[in-house]
Amino acid sequence: MLTIALSKGRIFEETLPLLAAAGIVPTEAPESSRKLIIGTNRDDVRLIIVRASDVPTYVQYGAADLGVAGRDVLIEHGGSGLYQPLDLQIARCRLMVAVQRGFDYEGAVKQGARLRIATKYTEQAREHFAAKGVHVDLIKLYGSMELAPLVGLADAIVDLVSTGSTLKANNLEAVEHIRDISSRLIVNQAALKLKEDRIQPLIDAFTSAVGQEASQS
Ligand code: ATP
Ligand code: MG
Repeated sequence: MLTIALSKGRIFEETLPLLAAAGIVPTEAPESSRKLIIGTNRDDVRLIIVRASDVPTYVQYGAADLGVAGRDVLIEHGGSGLYQPLDLQIARCRLMVAVQRGFDYEGAVKQGARLRIATKYTEQAREHFAAKGVHVDLIKLYGSMELAPLVGLADAIVDLVSTGSTLKANNLEAVEHIRDISSRLIVNQAALKLKEDRIQPLIDAFTSAVGQEASQS
């Protein structure tokens, strides 16, 4: 059996065409079914539906052979035990620093002020501000970071931005780009050796499907 870990929503939706290119079609959609284990047209392939930030953990411990996870999630996880053969170019966004409109971020940084940063991405925030030589207090959040500067919890947030409309709707603005984010195929290193005959063709099919998408856009 091959087990593939995916999260609901954009990653599931955007992985569907890649699975189809590998001849794999789920028998149900996770949005309508409450099942956490979803079968496919292939008896030897199943999907498990987990939280986006849990995908690397399931693959690391071999509970899933493969998975799809954002680069944001992979950096926070650390990537141990994972082979990352392919950037799938899906779920693209940017990790940014944002502040309330009117907050003089550049000025605060120049003055050497200690900044309070609210984020779900504490590892990447720590690394970003350390590289800039900015002293920060990190406040870990699990949900809508956009609220934090509006109610005085933080001076700035580190969050994912795609169109910027959520920032705009909340009177925030992006002030720094940390990195571009997309999702990657991840593979359990032991599974790759033990099930290479089934995993390698899947990697190859994904690779050529990603290449075709890229040349069309
Ligand atoms: P949860 O909703 O469980 O708290 P999450 O917000 O990380 O977790 P998703 O919203 O499904 O889960 O996002 C999955 C991945 O998609 C993220 O890890 C990131 O790489 C990418 N992503 C997040 N937000 C966006 C966005 N607005 N546009 C494009 N890609 C995004
Ligand atoms: Mg989300």
